[in-house]
This record gives sequence, C-alpha cells and structure tokens, in this order.
Amino acid sequence: MTYDARAGAGSGGCGVAKMSDTPESRGYKRIATEEAWATPELVQLYTQILDTRSINDPGFYSLWGFFGKSPTPRAKDLIDRIQDMGERRLNDMDATGIDMQLLLLTAPGVQVFDPPTATALAVSTNDQLAEIIRKHPTRYQGLAAFAPQAPQAAAREIERAVTQLGLKGAVVNSHTQGEYLDDEKFWDIFAAAEALDVPVYIHPNSPSPQMVEPFLSRCLDAAIYGFAAETGLHALRLIVSGVFDRFPNLKIVLGHLGEGLPYWLYRIDFMHAGIVRSNRSPGALPLRKKPSEYLRDNFYFTTSGMPWEPSISLVQRLFGHDKVMYAMDYPYEYVKEEVDMMDNLPITPQQKKMFFQSNAERIFKLP
Ligand code: CA
Repeated sequence: MTYDARAGAGSGGCGVAKMSDTPESRGYKRIATEEAWATPELVQLYTQILDTRSINDPGFYSLWGFFGKSPTPRAKDLIDRIQDMGERRLNDMDATGIDMQLLLLTAPGVQVFDPPTATALAVSTNDQLAEIIRKHPTRYQGLAAFAPQAPQAAAREIERAVTQLGLKGAVVNSHTQGEYLDDEKFWDIFAAAEALDVPVYIHPNSPSPQMVEPFLSRCLDAAIYGFAAETGLHALRLIVSGVFDRFPNLKIVLGHLGEGLPYWLYRIDFMHAGIVRSNRSPGALPLRKKPSEYLRDNFYFTTSGMPWEPSISLVQRLFGHDKVMYAMDYPYEYVKEEVDMMDNLPITPQQKKMFFQSNAERIFKLP
C-alpha cells in the first residue's frame, strides 16, 4: 500500500492542478476507474478481526495488519482518506486533476465474513454508496459490492444495485475464503451480470490461504507481486473453465493492465492447446476459442498502479485502444506526477480521450 501524501497536501499544497487544467482545456475528462473506499462500519469489522484473529486468512492479516493497535501516522492517514467521501476526497481529486472516481469497496470487501453477515453488509454498503453518488453525481459513480459466499443472494443484490440504485456493475476482490468464481456454484452471479449487461471488476486480494505462504516470508504478498499472481490466476481459471462459452457476453474488468496475463498470452495459448489435446486433466476442458481470444473479447483493462508506458502500450497493441482505461487506485496510489505521465502518453488526442474518458463512459455506461 503505497501512496504519496505530499501529492495530496490539499489546497495550496504542492502538486495542486493548474487552474487552466480543465476538461475543456485538455480535451478530455479524467475518469479514474479503480478508486477505493470503505465504510466506517467495515473498517471497524476489520479491526475486530485483527484484534480477535477470528478468521483463517494469513493474507488478510498481512494486508490490514498495518492498521493494528497503534497505526503509524501514514497508516492512520490512509484509513482516514479511504473513508472520507466528502471534502477531503474531492480536494484530493482536484489536486490531481481527477474529474470523476469510479468507487470500488476496498479489498477484501465483504468476502471475509460469514454468508448472512456478508450479504447484509453488501446491501447496506451499496445503499450508502448510492447515497454518496446522489450527493456528487458528477464526481462519483460506483460498482456494487456482493457476497459470493451466498451466490443466489449475490446475483439478486447485483440486480438490485444496478436497476434500483444505479450502480454501474459489480466488484469482487478475487478469491472468497480460498474459493474462485470458476466453480459453477457461483455462476448465477455471472448470469446476472450478463443479463444486466454490466461488467464484473475482479479486483485483487491477497493470495488465498492455499498459496500465500511463500509470498509472506519475503513480503511479496500484496501490490508488489502477490495481488497480480492471485488475480491473474483467478482470471485464467475463469477462462479455462469455459465460463465465457456459457456466458459469451460477460464483461470482466481487470486492473493493473491485466495482472500480467497480456505478457504471457502466446505461451498460455500454446500450452493450453497441448494440455487439452493430451487429455491431461479433467479440469482442462476444450474451449470454443483460444484463451487469448477470451481475453480480447470479454475483458477490459485499467492501469491502476501501472502508469508505465511500455506495459500500457503492449495492452493497447494487443487488444485495442478501446479496451484500456485509466485508473489511479486512490488512496493507495496517489501521486500527481503519475497523472502527468499519463497525460504525456505518446498516443493521439482521440486515443487519449478514449483512455481517460470515453472507454469508461461506454463500458460502465456512465451518465
Ligand atoms: Ca485497488
């Protein structure tokens, strides 16, 4: 969890956007599409878990352990920012020139609780998010939290959040207590998303309890590498499970420029064909298309925390300029200079508008 508090020193601090920097002057709105928030209720529940060690998830304790009994000033500042949906966040957005945030409940969301608690918490959280958006509809839009622990209730909550609350899709923080959504027991969730024509954003979580140990001992479990290993695995499990043959119009969004998968595509396609041909495992099923074709046809990508031209340009080249969207990952990543770097990407003005604005408007059906 890294961010640069200097960039968000507030009005008058360094890094404040120039007065001339408006959507009109630059030719596009900056819409940041993977921005974290949390309710005070959720933060309190996480604190209880930290105090009582009541769940068996080493990744959770590593992820949220920084906010233990005596948090550092930096941790305290982060936890304040993530809950503040008023002036402070709006000022931070102004200071970095962000016109709109698409809000996602921070990892691991409601996925660490028992099914009834998680389901109720998703409902109350989505209600609160809708209220926040109603107050600032031009600055905030958001995705619905849901509890995969109760898949049918999750599907109903996604439908309620989209049709009644106006949320623009749903977010899942990768594994749920070690389980992945390629298990067919979860597929009512995908059926709902496909029927509503809204995307499911697979946001990272710490690696599942089954895989986290070798990451923990070298502090590689979080954003440095573990998130990508976990979430890339999750996306690949979905692809090879045949979920997109069942739900061909399902849209999935991945952050961090696809969690490493774009770089691997040639090898994934080559090896998957061989694995299926040799009938090596009942888990490796024949698919209608190559794995890379599902990534091209069903997935969208955001830059969250990856403001690096070589990687951005690879993903744009592989999948097209209409598939890649800007994200900051506030408040975890909060560095004004990264926005400047994205403004200076070597792409055409039309492509830059797609990157910062119109892809997000189209994919999330933003007003
Ligand atoms: Ca994030």
